[in-house]
Amino acid sequence: MVAVASRSFSRNATLRAELLQRYPGARFNPTDRVLRRDELVDFLRGREKAITGLETLDAAVFSAVPELRLVSKYGVGLDTIDLDAARRHGVAIRWTPGVNRQAVAELTIAMVLALSRQLVPLAREIGEGIWRQPVGRQLSSAIVGILGCGQIGQQVARICRAFGSTVLAHDIVPYDEFYRANAVTPVTLAHLLRESDFVSIHVPLNATTRNLIGARELKAMKPTAFLVNTARGGIVDEHALKQALISGEIGGAAADVFNVEPPSDRELLTLPNFVATPHIGASTSEAALAMGRAAIEGLDDPSREIALAT
Ligand code: NAD
Repeated sequence: MVAVASRSFSRNATLRAELLQRYPGARFNPTDRVLRRDELVDFLRGREKAITGLETLDAAVFSAVPELRLVSKYGVGLDTIDLDAARRHGVAIRWTPGVNRQAVAELTIAMVLALSRQLVPLAREIGEGIWRQPVGRQLSSAIVGILGCGQIGQQVARICRAFGSTVLAHDIVPYDEFYRANAVTPVTLAHLLRESDFVSIHVPLNATTRNLIGARELKAMKPTAFLVNTARGGIVDEHALKQALISGEIGGAAADVFNVEPPSDRELLTLPNFVATPHIGASTSEAALAMGRAAIEGLDDPSREIALAT
């Protein structure tokens, strides 16, 4: 009675075996695609419980599969699930926060270091016979601004503090104890954009964060500053980012996530001061096991349920 739509879960032999022990009839996504609309509906039909990753679950899907009672999330982003529609259709949504925070934090730091030393263009150029030696910046003396200081943001902050960076954070939740314990300074968004050498985005995508970083915010950043987005496409206005990178309004940017994935703007993707990765933030074997095991637990553990506003 369980359907696993998530591709990564379905490909992972350990997770499949662990789930089949509990749910011998579990069905796995046999394609290497994110299932959409009719394909997703057909796949979920007749199942009461599902494990989903990046699939879009909206009112149309919930109405088409009324027997679906519970969704356990593989991963932490809830932006692909219409929580209001889930509540209306009586579908419980379960998730486990923080399961991939180390994986995403490590990719974020990799991007910060790559940008500060121009690793990506230099690695390409040396293969083409070009020997260029630009002067970079050290993370140890940089000011890092964390936009959204939850599970992943806090982990990035800890690592940056270990490097010796000055860390600023902006969040709508006051994490006073964390800030005190880790010498992180809470600031306004305007202050964070103005002062940071690196702005790293770790907010969820929702109505309050869509296009949170647009032309005005990019203009407010230092011309030498770098923007890193490992959170979600849609938080950064990609068109405004491209213009800011071309005009030199900011020093560079890195993104693991895009408005539409895979992205198609070749002009943006091939800019020398832009580093792009194909949504691999949580793609480590450690995170896959942690996310998969949390999703399996979520099938039977009501304490992982999200309280859906009425
Ligand atoms: P989290 O919920 O623990 O942290 C998010 C933080 O953002 C919270 O502290 C929240 O208060 C804050 N926030 C929300 N709206 C805000 C706003 N308008 N202004 C300022 N702060 C705001 O989530 P997390 O586990 O740290 O994940 C963060 C993001 O990373 C999510 O968007 C998730 O989708 C994304 N993510 C990406 C990958 C990837 O593969 N690249 C993997 C995992 C998570």
